[in-house]
Amino acid sequence: MAATTQEQIPRETEVVVIGAGIAGTMTAYFLAKRGVPVVLCEKGRVAGEQSSRNWGWVRKQGRDPAELPAIIESLRVWPGLEAELEADVGWHQSGVTYLAQSDKDLESFESWLEHARPYQLDSRILSPAETDELLGQEQRQWKGALFTPSDGRAEPALAVPAMARAAERLGVTVLTDCAVRTLETTGGRVTGVVTERGAIACRAVVCAAGAWTSLFNRNLGVDLPQLKVKASVQRTKPAPLVTETAVSSGDAAFRRRQDGGYTIARSSAYAFDIVPDALRYFRSFLPILKMSWKDSKLRFSGAFFRELADGRGWGPDQVSPFERTRVLDPEPDHQVLDDTLATLGRRFPQLAGVEVAERWAGMIETTPDALPVMGAVGGIEGYYVMTGFSGHGFGMGPGAGLLMSELILDGKARVDLHPFRLERFTDGSKIEPYSVL
Ligand SMILES: Cc1cc2nc3c(=O)[nH]c(=O)nc-3n(C[C@H](O)[C@H](O)[C@H](O)COP(=O)(O)OP(=O)(O)OC[C@H]3O[C@@H](n4cnc5c(N)ncnc54)[C@H](O)[C@@H]3O)c2cc1C
Repeated sequence: MAATTQEQIPRETEVVVIGAGIAGTMTAYFLAKRGVPVVLCEKGRVAGEQSSRNWGWVRKQGRDPAELPAIIESLRVWPGLEAELEADVGWHQSGVTYLAQSDKDLESFESWLEHARPYQLDSRILSPAETDELLGQEQRQWKGALFTPSDGRAEPALAVPAMARAAERLGVTVLTDCAVRTLETTGGRVTGVVTERGAIACRAVVCAAGAWTSLFNRNLGVDLPQLKVKASVQRTKPAPLVTETAVSSGDAAFRRRQDGGYTIARSSAYAFDIVPDALRYFRSFLPILKMSWKDSKLRFSGAFFRELADGRGWGPDQVSPFERTRVLDPEPDHQVLDDTLATLGRRFPQLAGVEVAERWAGMIETTPDALPVMGAVGGIEGYYVMTGFSGHGFGMGPGAGLLMSELILDGKARVDLHPFRLERFTDGSKIEPYSVL
């Protein structure tokens, strides 16, 4: 297993990456591939949070058009990853399918296809007969589907640990149980980080701290609007093959797993804690909240007071919130998961009665426009943020890592990162979430 909880931590390096999710790990990997010394600091374990808890879909389909160039790059990386990492990551380029239950669904698929046309993707609308053929069905229960054969799936539990091991082989020092508390700066320039196990001098820092990024930045005086929502998932024991493609049928989605079971969940069934950030960023998030209001559950909980206390800030010598919660591991919503399973059983009789092997939940972090933040932070030279993947960063992770490594080393990436700049939230830009498919 990669990732050592070393007694001795390096005292200096070139780049420190905060967070060993897929984004941080792949950034470290691509930096090291170009010969740059890197220390990757993780407060808990490699991929302990979102990056091991996701559905494993790797898709261009349905993305905000602003993200298409970056995800196209990511999908150039994925097919070669197993050879590059010398490990099984469960990659299958078996397509992604969204089923249409109504003419309105088909219209939204058509509208997305219009946006995607300039990129000449292989996405297309399937007729009801073609949809049935794909699913091995005959009853014409679907109006059609949006299908992208070149999209794929991978096994999150395999993928990111394999990435971390490969990064280590390239010389990256991976430190687990090692929270970064804050940055050290001199004259507006990054000179290092302070971790719970001591300081590490460096010339650049990438904050890829997932759901913790906003909090880390607020302590530095940098505002980054971000909220967390809980999403629940289940995996089944091996079951008959319906299709190799990942399928969304509106309120119930499934994808075949390499172990012969399925990962099953309901998209947009989110539980949302009313926490201080929800009040702080309420206006910024109103448009996106309205879009997913229908299936979301709002609640007050102990999280409000915990996050209120965390938000008061801390110094480099004080225990930080990152050390107090090593791994965000929320309780899954069994009612939503039972209902999703029953829905799928009705629509796909092969899945009726399938046995559940495990359930879990993850905290998804999102920005007001559901687009990531990837770029330099103004006012702190040498400091970069990559976060806000808003529920679709697993597919984007390898590409995001490649692009960030280019930004840091070459001053610009092969894809224009302007849409992902942090300043869009403060420079008067119109923040409009794309109606997420
Ligand atoms: C239920 C669910 C389903 C999803 N399904 C999909 C999907 O099918 N396809 C897809 O593309 N995406 C999906 N996603 C989204 C995807 O998982 C995330 O966008 C992606 O994993 C984000 O990666 P990350 O590296 O940015 O963050 P994370 O994986 O959250 O990693 C951040 C890491 O930073 C660490 N950290 C935080 N603060 C500090 C600190 N101060 N010091 C040290 N370490 C720190 C954390 O412990 C964590 O390990 C899903 C997410 C969930 C929860």
